[in-house]
Formats: sequence, structure tokens, C-alpha cells
Amino acid sequence: MNYQNDLTFARQQDEQDPLKNFRSRFLIPRHKGEDAVYLCGNSLGLQPVSAQQYLADQLNTWQNLAVEGWFQGDDPWLDYHKQIQSSIARIVGAQENEVAVMNSLTVNLHLLMVSFYKPSSKRFKIIMEGGAFPSDQYAMESQVRFHDLDPKETIIEIFPREGEATLRTGDIIDAIDKNKNELALVLFGGINYYTGQFFDLKAIANAAHEAGAYAGFDLAHAAGNVPLQLHNWGADFACWCSYKYMNSGPGGISGIFVHEKHFTDKELNRFAGWWGYRRDKQFLMAPGFDPEMGAAGWQVSTSPIPLLALFKASMAIFDDAGGLDTLRQKSIRLTGYLEFLIQAINQELGEEAYKIITPADPNARGCQLSVVCKQNARAIFNYLAQNGVIGDWREPDVIRLSPVPLYNTFEDVYKTAKLMADALKAV
Ligand SMILES: *Cc1c(COP(=O)(O)O)cnc(C)c1O
Repeated sequence: MNYQNDLTFARQQDEQDPLKNFRSRFLIPRHKGEDAVYLCGNSLGLQPVSAQQYLADQLNTWQNLAVEGWFQGDDPWLDYHKQIQSSIARIVGAQENEVAVMNSLTVNLHLLMVSFYKPSSKRFKIIMEGGAFPSDQYAMESQVRFHDLDPKETIIEIFPREGEATLRTGDIIDAIDKNKNELALVLFGGINYYTGQFFDLKAIANAAHEAGAYAGFDLAHAAGNVPLQLHNWGADFACWCSYKYMNSGPGGISGIFVHEKHFTDKELNRFAGWWGYRRDKQFLMAPGFDPEMGAAGWQVSTSPIPLLALFKASMAIFDDAGGLDTLRQKSIRLTGYLEFLIQAINQELGEEAYKIITPADPNARGCQLSVVCKQNARAIFNYLAQNGVIGDWREPDVIRLSPVPLYNTFEDVYKTAKLMADALKAV
């Protein structure tokens, strides 16, 4: 891709963008009377214009039908989740019966650990990426303690080599191989929240299985961002939130994936609830838990219909956009443009004022670029914010910028880089 460092070029790209009409399906925050440049979809995706209506429809059903809403009306609540299951399955590369929507992300991580972390005296270790999202670290530590094990002797974190910011796939595989006799689980983020590195999940799943361990993935930063093939890669389980790249609103409902090879495995523990019971007999309220076949059998509690409605509004947009492959094409070019413009700032200065720690290979990243500011990092971030660029700050000196193909433009990216150049003189 040949990029040019000028606004006319950026606007031409927007004009030719096959997804250009999707921006108007989102509510863009305002800054001083204009659209802000929102590059924070990695943290909270924007509200679909349709979200209010989807929610209002369910509030109306509640108003008019009350409890009968579970069985009556246009979208009976009992099967409401099924309307989005195929969209979600496409996004994560799964069969429909391998996904379920329920709870929130960290809760689901715990529930899946109940099934897929059953340490024995011989196999008990967990490998994860160093510097994983803190909630995942806390979840793993507490799971390990729950089994009366010592996290220090149980959890192996893999860190980048000295002087490097991201992990080499070969080093991950080596670590898995080295611990193969004691390894119970490899638990990786799909995309690391801090560096933006998209891991080779297929290679990691293969290595885990060769070592006799399970492979599980937290896809919070990957789902809706990069194409995934959970079924074909043979992942054992995965979970994700829907409020980042999937735009389902703050605290939106989470999703899980359980590979079909585990559906009938009676060895897997589950923390059960009535919503995971066989649907055809759920209301017989019989004693003894008999799970629904599929990921749905991991559900615990009654579906939160308002959250599902918000998620459904967003899934309709993903479906209309033609799925992840179309989004990904634009995403690669959009993030590549941001990278090009940041490098241009460095070149003009003759020094690396902004160091991008996200991998340069588009296959090893998603939308996000993580940028280390050499000097005045916080002041630069504040300068961007004061000028209408909403990015995301991480201590001590990292700004994360995530142009999202559904609602960001090449002009957004151009404006951001221009302000980043100005900031170096202004702060
Ligand atoms: C965003 C994120 C979370 C947040 O979990 P919640 O339970 O939804 O608060 C957890 N893990 C990762 C990797 C994340 O990126």
C-alpha cells in the first residue's frame, strides 16, 4: 500500500472506502461542536444508533407482555440469544453450538477454568503471557489457590526477550515444550491488551495439545477485531467481552466458546445452573443436572435480555458489513496508515519520539497501535485529548490508539498524527 502524508489522500481513501456508510450507524462523541476522533474502541466500542430501539423494543415487551415475554411476542426471550448465535459464531470461527452468551468476561473465565483446569499432582502448571490483563492474572492466581497450590510454582509467565517488546512464537512453543510433563493449561490472550500483539493461536493450541495440555484463549481484544478460527485451530475453550470491538455497551454480555470435542466429556466439572439445563426439559424442574448439548450447557443464569438486545443491535451491523474479512481488509490499511504517519514524524525529527511497540507485521496485530512516547508522554496524551482525540493511556508512557474499521476514517487517522506532530512542539 502506498500511503501519502496529506489530508487530500486521507479523504480520497474515505471516499473509496466500501465501508464508508457504516460510520453513520454509530453515535460519535462530540468535542467542541465537532465529531471527536475516537480511537478507543479497544476499551469501549461506540454506541450503535439502533441500540436505543433494540432496547426499547424489549422494554415494550416487558411493559406489554410482562412474564409472557419469555414465550410470546415477536422475539420470545427464551430463544432471544439464538438470534445472535450465528453472527457470533462467524466472528470467532466456531460452529453455532460451540458458542454461548452469558455473564461477563472474568466470570466466564472462572467458569471455564472449573471445567478445564483440573490440576493433578503431576500436571498442574499453567502457562500464560507475561503482563496479561490484570483481571486474568487475578483470576488465574485465585484459581490456583482454590486448588491449594502456590501461584509462584504453578503459573509460568512468558516474557519478551531482553530489549524486545513482544513475544516470539518460537519462544512460546519452547516454553510449552519445556514444561510438557507438568503442564495442565496454556491460557493466552488473543491480542495482548498492552502491546497489541496478536498471538499465533493456532501454533499455541497445537503446542499445548502436543504437550498434553488444554489451550484456552481470552479474546477480549481479538473478538470482532481480527479473524479467528477457534474450531479449526482446535482451541479447547475461549471467552471474550462484547463491549470492546463488538460495541455492545459498558459491561455488555460476554461470550464463551467450548470446542465440540468436549460436549459429551463427563470428566469436565461444571458449576451448573438451570439455564444450562437441557432446554426441552428445563421447565420440568427435575432433580439432577442434565446439561444442554453444546456451549449452551455451560450457561448458569437467566439471560439478561436488555444486554442481549444491545448486543443484537451491534451484531446486525457486523452482519451487514459482511463479517470480519471485509472489516479486516480496511483495518489493516487504516492501522497501516497510522503507522506510516507516525514513522513520518520520527523521520522528519531524525529521532524516535514515538516508538511503536506493536508488531509491524499486520498478521501479528489488530486495530491497535501501542505507542511509547520518549518524552512528556502524559502531556502529549493530554494535548491529544484537549484537541478531541480520544485514545487510551497506560502507565508509564504508552498511548494506545485503535482505529476501528466500522466507524473510524482515514481522516481521523490523519488528524491524530498531525496532532501528535504538533504535540511535540506544544508540550
Ligand atoms: C477487557 C478485559 C477484561 C475485562 O474483564 P471484565 O470481566 O469484562 O471486566 C478481562 N480480560 C482481558 C484480557 C481484557 O482485555
